[in-house]
Amino acid sequence: FESKLPNLGTSIFSQMTALANQHQALNLSQGFPEFDAPDLLKKQLNNYVLEGVNQYAPSSGIVRLQQQIAALIARKYHNNIDYEQQVTVTSGATEALFVAIQALVRDGDEVVVFDPAYDSYQPAIELAGGRSVHVALHAPDYQIDWHAVAEVMSEKTRAIIINTPHNPSGKILKADDIAALKALVKAHNLYVISDEVYEHITFDGATHVSALTDTELFERSFVISSFGKTFHSTGWKMGYCVAPAELMIEFRKIHQYVTFSSFTPAQHALADMLELEPEHVDGLADFYQHKRDLLSNALQDSRFTLLPSEGTYFLLLDYSDVSDLNDVEFCHWLVEQAGVAAVPLSVFYNSPSNDKVIRVCFAKNDDTLLRAAEILCQL
Ligand code: PMP
Ligand code: GLN
Repeated sequence: FESKLPNLGTSIFSQMTALANQHQALNLSQGFPEFDAPDLLKKQLNNYVLEGVNQYAPSSGIVRLQQQIAALIARKYHNNIDYEQQVTVTSGATEALFVAIQALVRDGDEVVVFDPAYDSYQPAIELAGGRSVHVALHAPDYQIDWHAVAEVMSEKTRAIIINTPHNPSGKILKADDIAALKALVKAHNLYVISDEVYEHITFDGATHVSALTDTELFERSFVISSFGKTFHSTGWKMGYCVAPAELMIEFRKIHQYVTFSSFTPAQHALADMLELEPEHVDGLADFYQHKRDLLSNALQDSRFTLLPSEGTYFLLLDYSDVSDLNDVEFCHWLVEQAGVAAVPLSVFYNSPSNDKVIRVCFAKNDDTLLRAAEILCQL
């Protein structure tokens, strides 16, 4: 059988979680909260299921949830979008990314991707018949050199995928990055896929600059978010895409035949949550900043060098002073011998990276973070 994705194996997140379970290690590898979703969300889901709200939702999502998403966008980004034509509820950000990429990318098109990159972009581009063109960013600051991006442009370049706040680096794109992006989009007639799943998790008062805040940029963008990150419910696989009406028509044609619609009771519960407990979203940044700081402070006396995390629930650690192993070997050693699971950064790169950097997830209980730090401090 000739594989369409010959170079792909099992995702690093699944691999590391399996190893963590096998070795009963503290699992700071895969990005998911160790704590539960809010009570109201769980209660409402349960209620809707028991009340019999169990049939197909409209393909684009239930109106109340589309409205609540638009209200959140108006509150956060002062952009009044049209919920009917511009918002589609999806089965996680992963589905939204896949569908947006299929809608945009034609045979032979090139899509610019920044490495380290989230693992689902490249396979989705290739399945659409396109080719990902990688611009590598490196420790310690993962700054985008927009001149280097301009250099990889060709007449085949169709789109750029950005991810802010960025998994795995925790970097947030600033207003001047967005301005540079906009200039490229204009000059080369590009489209943008803006992966903003960690949009509400930013630290030290930093502002998330959404593609939704810039009217001109939004005209060329698919903006994607995930309720899994916002409501500690990664297992529900609920997310959404916001795009201008013209692009959304194409998005919906494909969404219709990938899933048709997403889990109805969850859509109702999420609409309630957004309407009744807006303080959850507003408190998320402080909630995670506490965890970032707890882990960072507990690692102060370790031999790891902590890289800055401006957002997301990830922290990068440079282990050059701890081990000479490469990052994949080091992560295997760490989970097997030390009992802590982390993710090697090189797997997020298309070309070899020799950075001695690992990613740890701090969406974990304080006790887990402190126990992990204690182990890491002994290395
Ligand atoms: N993009 C990024 C950058 C992510 O970290 C994740 C979550 N792992 C996703 C997309 C996918 O989100 P979801 O679980 O909602 O599909
Ligand atoms: N986004 C999560 C991470 O970066 C994992 C998602 C997954 O397992 N597919 O760890």
